[in-house]
Amino acid sequence: MATHLITSACTRCDACAAVCPTASISFGATQYVIDQDTCTGCEICVTVCPVDVIVPTPRQQPE
Ligand code: SF4
Ligand code: SF4
Repeated sequence: MATHLITSACTRCDACAAVCPTASISFGATQYVIDQDTCTGCEICVTVCPVDVIVPTPRQQPE
């Protein structure tokens, strides 16, 4: 379920990973990333991000 992602403006503060109830946030190659398969869109991470870089994932347009 792709609901939220972290933009490249992530400051790597580490606030979000600990609060995710589904452990969907991890440190990727250069910044924190959200597992698009397990994120439920609860937005708890959105409330703790100090720089507001966690945003809804753009939905794919129906074909
Ligand atoms: S929206 Fe919820 S499930 Fe998805 S990454 Fe944030 S805290 Fe985790
Ligand atoms: S809380 Fe925001 S700035 Fe901090 S690591 Fe998570 S996404 Fe990046």
